[in-house]
Amino acid sequence: MPLGEFDLIERFFSRGSGRRDVLLGVGDDAALLELPAGRALVAAVDTLVEGRHFLPDAPPESVGHQALAVNLSDLAAMGADPAWVLLSLSLPESDAAWLQSFATGLYSLAERHGVALVGGDTVRGPRVVTVTALGSVEPALALRRDRARPGDVLFVSGWPGEAGAGLEALRRGTVQGDADPLVRRYQYAEPRLGLGRALRGVASAAMDVSDGLYGDLQKLCRASGVGARLDLRCLPVSAELARRHSRADCERWVLFGGDDYELLFTVPAERAAGVEAAAPAALPVHRIGVIEDKSGVRCERGGRVEELRGGGYDHFA
Ligand code: ADP
Ligand code: MG
Repeated sequence: MPLGEFDLIERFFSRGSGRRDVLLGVGDDAALLELPAGRALVAAVDTLVEGRHFLPDAPPESVGHQALAVNLSDLAAMGADPAWVLLSLSLPESDAAWLQSFATGLYSLAERHGVALVGGDTVRGPRVVTVTALGSVEPALALRRDRARPGDVLFVSGWPGEAGAGLEALRRGTVQGDADPLVRRYQYAEPRLGLGRALRGVASAAMDVSDGLYGDLQKLCRASGVGARLDLRCLPVSAELARRHSRADCERWVLFGGDDYELLFTVPAERAAGVEAAAPAALPVHRIGVIEDKSGVRCERGGRVEELRGGGYDHFA
């Protein structure tokens, strides 16, 4: 039996969070939220469209996770503490089983990070999920893209490339989606909130990697008015990626894969060793290059400049 809009919201999207800064959550015309004194509001929104950002047969739980994860990743990349989210749902029908699973994915990630769902909108239409994430940070400590300086050391967290390779395997139908570790890295990306916090006052610039490391690094460089030299030998290749792909393909996945939601960040040279030492074993950070005066991104292998072959890029376009 189809659920009405009101029942749907009450049944699936009205869980309390226990956050005391939510003066009024789901149910009124708008939420009433209390921002800590001295902090700036950090706001991000991202939309997932079925068929474009998630596959029509994706487990609804993974869609709920992903919709929130991509937004929390944006807050992580700003060094923000996440607090509240709004959810706009467009659905072709009120399918209770789909909604139950979607809500499980969304709430389990939200609860893990102490984030409250405080409102949203529900309409009929093609399946589209939009999440707005709100958080806060001391403005002087926010991690911006436009503060990288020549001489800074360039880092990336975790294992970029895995998610992109997982998505490709899923598209080709060569793996059992629910169990495959690379597919899970795509469907259940972990927003790097702890790392973002740890980088406040330490990193000079940061962004999250959503469109592929190489392209996103170009964006960071452009925003900062600098360039970068990447050492291809230093690219982190996970054991799982290496097991399945040649070294050359691994490099391409790491550089161009997308959907990683790792953090790409720069650190003044004198602080770089401290950042490496402080990284937890579960989430290593990797030195992959340096920031330079000259604009653009150059690749080298052990000191020798190397052109990225166009074929590699096209393969992943
Ligand atoms: P309005 O007409 O005032 O926009 P709605 O009927 O759209 O109110 O929503 C009623 C309440 O339910 C509001 O507090 C709104 O924020 C909340 N809400 C609607 N859809 C969702 C959703 N998908 N998730 C969470 N809260 C929702
Ligand atoms: Mg509304």
